[in-house]
Amino acid sequence: EPGLYIVATPIGNLGDVSQRAKDTLGSVAAVACEDTRVTGKLLQLLGLKQRLIRYDDHASDATRDHLLQIAATSPLALVSDAGTPLISDPGYRLVREARARGVAVTSIPGPSAATVALTLSGLPSDRFLFAGFLPNKDKARGDVLQELAAVRATLVFYETAPRLIDSLAAIGRTLPGREVAVARELTKRFEDCRTGTVQHLIAHYEAHPARGEIVLLVAPPGEAEPPGEADVDALLRAALATGK
Ligand code: SAM
Repeated sequence: EPGLYIVATPIGNLGDVSQRAKDTLGSVAAVACEDTRVTGKLLQLLGLKQRLIRYDDHASDATRDHLLQIAATSPLALVSDAGTPLISDPGYRLVREARARGVAVTSIPGPSAATVALTLSGLPSDRFLFAGFLPNKDKARGDVLQELAAVRATLVFYETAPRLIDSLAAIGRTLPGREVAVARELTKRFEDCRTGTVQHLIAHYEAHPARGEIVLLVAPPGEAEPPGEADVDALLRAALATGK
């Protein structure tokens, strides 16, 4: 069937490629991808050989037009280097334009580091806000964190190893007292997820510099509930007992 197929690929473990992803990649006329070497290697591991076309959201309108002309008459896949396209990866503009032109869009779901990290972290998963990468510069990073301070949801950020300590320090300043999780190398051999206070995690990663790919999560603000009656009784008894 003609159309644009958004195909999720593994984030580190080839076993996570779905049957439907394999079937789709094997049957499309071309695969649009961020990096033809990375995707070429994946296809080779899957025993496939397809025409590859480089694409990212900075591509010209002419490139997008060319891809959507293919998708209008034949199946065209979009993949990113790893994980789900459009999630801190190219594709949003292509999907938007495809829909505007009436080109069918189908999503072949699969792994995304954000949801893998959320399910591992032990932080509340009923509400979460995916915020992509924090800005590089101190001021901008602080501003974004400040903006998110009141959000009653677990915050999920993509991070890189060299910036981890700076980001943790910024979280400690702007969102003090929150529990934080660092999820690294998900689905890979050295997968690791550590939770604790910002101070604890900074001390750990100063002693053992983080390597590899990282998702950073921050717990929602604590529910500062007023103490119930039973708590007030207990507090009073304790205060009387110590004479304070
Ligand atoms: N589209 C991808 C997805 O769905 O997960 C994310 C692409 S984004 C450019 C790359 C970032 O995703 C990394 O810097 C890291 O924060 C996160 N990431 C990707 N793979 C990961 C892994 N195996 N373990 C931890 N984080 C990962």
